[in-house]
Amino acid sequence: MVIVMKAGATEGQIQHVVDRLRNFGLKEHISRGEERTLIGAIGDERVLRTIPINAAPGVEKVMAVVSPYKLASREFNSEDTLIDVNGIKIGGKKIAVMAGPCAVESQGQITTIAKAVKQGGGVILRGGAFKPRTGPYSFQGLGDKGLDMLAEAKTETGLSVITEIMGTEEVDLVASYTDIFQVGARNMQNFTLLKALGQTNTPVMLKRGMSATIEEFLLAAEYILSYGNHNVMLCERGIRTFETYTRNTLDINAVPVLKNLSHLPVIVDPSHATGRRELVAPMAKAAVAAGADGLIIEVHHEPENSLTGDGVQSLLPDQFEKLMKELQRIAKAVDRDMYI
Ligand code: PEP
Ligand code: MN
Repeated sequence: MVIVMKAGATEGQIQHVVDRLRNFGLKEHISRGEERTLIGAIGDERVLRTIPINAAPGVEKVMAVVSPYKLASREFNSEDTLIDVNGIKIGGKKIAVMAGPCAVESQGQITTIAKAVKQGGGVILRGGAFKPRTGPYSFQGLGDKGLDMLAEAKTETGLSVITEIMGTEEVDLVASYTDIFQVGARNMQNFTLLKALGQTNTPVMLKRGMSATIEEFLLAAEYILSYGNHNVMLCERGIRTFETYTRNTLDINAVPVLKNLSHLPVIVDPSHATGRRELVAPMAKAAVAAGADGLIIEVHHEPENSLTGDGVQSLLPDQFEKLMKELQRIAKAVDRDMYI
């Protein structure tokens, strides 16, 4: 942390800041310029975040030099985190594809789609039972009945499953069904939920909030990590911009940025990022080329009948199968493999 003193700050004010640093176990490095004095704080500057040093007399501003998150950072763990989901290791050389409908709608629907996902080479079945809908009159998901249907599809296909968790009251129930908790974009900063998930051992896929900065995203992951659950993966699902042609704007930059800043696996959701079926395959390929460790893709065998309206962004089973083949070539080009 660098403390910039105001022009004309007195020796007494400089000494006061130095004393504060020493009280917190930090050392100081003073640099006196023509106009102003800079004081570098040496040591774990995170302790300083607990005191408003910028409120001390004579201080103009305080600049952080390390990130406010710690456990999520590359500095903390230079090795990539591998998350083991029933033998599928997410975050390693092999890219994992999760696919399935937006929501579980019926036993027939989820089983049919699960078989198509398996046939195409997907390794994890997605399907929401508790759906975070923008309006209260939209289909809200089948709740615990949907979880039972997902479990049946899992038994029939052998695929692992990922499903969304919306509230702390559902943690035990959803944990008893799912292999990965999905935290949706709208809940990225539901800190009570993040703390509760941090106290489980089940892997969590945290989706980026639609207006969240990368730093806010990593701080949300930090909540889960800091409560003891180290199995966290980050999902870029598009952010809100001025563009309206697509549902969101896929922030493809976020993939290499997150891989640089953090050791956590990065997943991309090209379905919610674009909202348009014809853009899902190109963006899925771009994500793999950019270094994503996995993808989560919506697939529906009867998109016109989808109850959430996300049929418009769902691939048909044969489109999914074709994409999986194309992705293998992209993966090879960037020295990766795929679970298929
Ligand atoms: C979803 O994956 O079903 C979903 C609702 O996505 P998001 O939270 O990214 O909007
Ligand atoms: Mn959806």
